Amino acid sequence: SAAKESGGGIARFDDSLRAEQTERARIAAGLRQAISDGSLFMHYQPVVDTASGRITGVEALMRWRQDGELIPPGEFIPVAEQTGLIGTIGARALRLACAQAAVWHRDHGLYLTVNVSTHQLRDPGFADSVLRILADTGLPAAALVLEITESVLIDASDTNVLGILRAYGIRIAIDDFGTGYSSLAYLHTLPVDILKIDQSFIRRHQDPPRPQDVSLTRAILELARSQDLLAVAEGVETAAQANLLRELDCPLVQGYHFGRPSAPEVIDVLLREAAVRTAA
Ligand code: C2E
Ligand code: MG
Ligand code: MG
Ligand code: MG
Repeated sequence: SAAKESGGGIARFDDSLRAEQTERARIAAGLRQAISDGSLFMHYQPVVDTASGRITGVEALMRWRQDGELIPPGEFIPVAEQTGLIGTIGARALRLACAQAAVWHRDHGLYLTVNVSTHQLRDPGFADSVLRILADTGLPAAALVLEITESVLIDASDTNVLGILRAYGIRIAIDDFGTGYSSLAYLHTLPVDILKIDQSFIRRHQDPPRPQDVSLTRAILELARSQDLLAVAEGVETAAQANLLRELDCPLVQGYHFGRPSAPEVIDVLLREAAVRTAA
């Protein structure tokens, strides 16, 4: 009967909810251990200057190896946020990345860009902890970018801490721009410096590109320019997309076409190769 079926549906729903909770608890327990045992670490993806073709920065992306398997951040960051573990993990990640980037900044002038969760921003000790990490690692504030998502910008108290960080010279980027809720009308009032165009806008560019896709990207780039924001195109996977973005004068690009997120040793090799090319 219908009643029986819906009852069965609820039971199945309960089961799947319980399975989900168990999975979340399992990930949380693993994460607690990972904080101390070094299985959480950072990979770095090149950000390339379109005009020179050179690596100008790196985005730090968290990685977790558990039992030999690499777990993607999309699976464990949400759990870390729900359990509050993101505070500890995020601070650790930032310290690791700043220490690494201090060397790349000194030797190659690179900047570092790091993702920050809303939960981290709302910790009243956040600004102090960032400044302490910069002081300890020797990375200049001007070489650090913090990436936040558009939803953060709706809350006035969140934008306050961004103002404090910017006063020290740290730059703020809106990540995944175009997927959230930020209104174009108040973009100029937001405490941000960099606009990262979401991959979904870049991925749609075919070869040859369709005029409507090109005008959409051009419009976002013009918007960024008019607001004095530095634009970064994310998710550039093909040479055709890279060429198009250069033609459109997109200042910075990032994506598999230029380099995947990689271990620091791999970035070192890329930087050394670029230095040799310049010297030749
Ligand atoms: P995100 O900040 O937007 O990072 C870009 C994501 O796109 C990364 O996925 C990167 O590996 C991937 N990507 C880069 N280039 C390409 C490309 O050409 N094609 C495709 N298909 N993908 C590309 P990843 O590393 O899996 O990270 C996913 C998300 O997890 C990040 O998105 C970020 O929101 C979050 N995340 C990563 N590390 C951290 C962290 O340390 N802290 C926090 N709070 N969040 C992090
Ligand atoms: Mg990002
Ligand atoms: Mg992000
Ligand atoms: Mg993004």
